[in-house]
Amino acid sequence: MKATQYISTRGGVAPLSFRQAVMMGLADDGGLLLPAEIPQVGDRLDAWRRLDYRGLASALMHLFVGDDIPATEFAALVNRSYERFSRAEVAPVVAVGDLYVLELFHGPTLAFKDVALQFLGNVFEHVLTASGERLNIVGATSGDTGSAAICGVRGRRNIEIFIMHPHGKVSPIQERQMTTVLDPNVHNIAVQGTFDDGQRVLKEIFNDLPFKRRYGLGAVNSVNWARVLAQVVYYFHAAFRVQDRTGCRRVQFSVPTGNFGDIFAGYVALRMGAPISRLILATNENDILARFFTSGVYATGEVVPTLSPSMDIQVASNFERYLFYRCGGDGGKVRALMAQFAGSGRLELSGEDPAFVAGRGTTDDALAVISRCHREHGYLLDPHSAVGVAVGERFRRPDEPTVCLATAHPAKFPEAIRRATGQDLARHPAIEGILSLPTRCAVLPPTRQAVQEFIVSTLGTRC
Ligand SMILES: *Cc1c(COP(=O)(O)O)cnc(C)c1O
Repeated sequence: MKATQYISTRGGVAPLSFRQAVMMGLADDGGLLLPAEIPQVGDRLDAWRRLDYRGLASALMHLFVGDDIPATEFAALVNRSYERFSRAEVAPVVAVGDLYVLELFHGPTLAFKDVALQFLGNVFEHVLTASGERLNIVGATSGDTGSAAICGVRGRRNIEIFIMHPHGKVSPIQERQMTTVLDPNVHNIAVQGTFDDGQRVLKEIFNDLPFKRRYGLGAVNSVNWARVLAQVVYYFHAAFRVQDRTGCRRVQFSVPTGNFGDIFAGYVALRMGAPISRLILATNENDILARFFTSGVYATGEVVPTLSPSMDIQVASNFERYLFYRCGGDGGKVRALMAQFAGSGRLELSGEDPAFVAGRGTTDDALAVISRCHREHGYLLDPHSAVGVAVGERFRRPDEPTVCLATAHPAKFPEAIRRATGQDLARHPAIEGILSLPTRCAVLPPTRQAVQEFIVSTLGTRC
């Protein structure tokens, strides 16, 4: 077994290549795809330390891609993926007080999801160009994922993208970040209902297998392996930069968490041999993951809306990947645990994992951190990143730097910034003026039939 072969967490899929794993998304046995082996890179760290972000991304990710994309072609693909970032170093690390902040929001939609979705768009295009096929992406969003996914595939010849958002229920900025993209392959749908209605319609469309096959539907949600892979890179890159500055042996990362995608990438980096001591998992009031890492019990609760909406999640879609390692790679055991969870909304594991500590940062904690960081350091955090800082501060160590992941630019959340600081400070040129640009969006009832009819008629006009 090799790092370039992919298996399912539930053990029911014959080994796949990288390309097959990316196109499959969710594994056919209902599990998630993982590399059969995690490469150990201890002897490469000194060479990797000298690379810039793009060079490191090419070298690291190619270990998981293998023969599917030749190395020089892959390096060009990676370079294209980070072309639209406004900082040459892609993901800079800045000192804020006695913490370090890893800024992941310099991509085109100002959220860390660009790091992975710009790359995924290029991987899709590469695979489709080679095979001559077309892909019709269908997704549902409550905010950040939709705009980053649209931005990752806008203008590409062999891809159409349909993104549903709840009509009138996403923030005006998030809505405009999607609906002002006028490329002919981008199709926004405002569903007259809630985010859950959109999710339900999406599931119903994907469960209509004849429709799914006939129209070549694909997904871009966070279970796609290519998204996790692209995020592994910045853990190495940031750890190297902090080591350069402090000479420390290892660093710890604090990660604001929703679907367990971002922090799982940190776990992969740790297992590969990155100089990481442990991961600090930070949730908001929707704390299923924080409760799991402190009690061993993984049990769903009600979703409560918070200031950090991209973390308002009670069932973390990437958690199953971690479960696979906790079950010693036993797919049968994972399958049994997930069946138990599907039936009762609860599962329990014994033992602890020294790689993780966890805590919860409430809305009040986040507001206090935003206000204090601004007052004391002149640094503005968005409400998601503030949850990570609030929890990260509790686990500070005297002898080891803490790096907090900043997952969105504060300008995406001006209300929260106003509440925390009493001032209108959240600005970014990519957002200025967006509210007055022309938009295109179809408003549809929240039914499978209405959305399918829209997809079919739209594709009819595009081919
Ligand atoms: C998606 C998102 C998160 C959560 O990331 P996961 O990979 O789901 O844990 C945190 N912050 C922001 C701004 C996001 O968009």
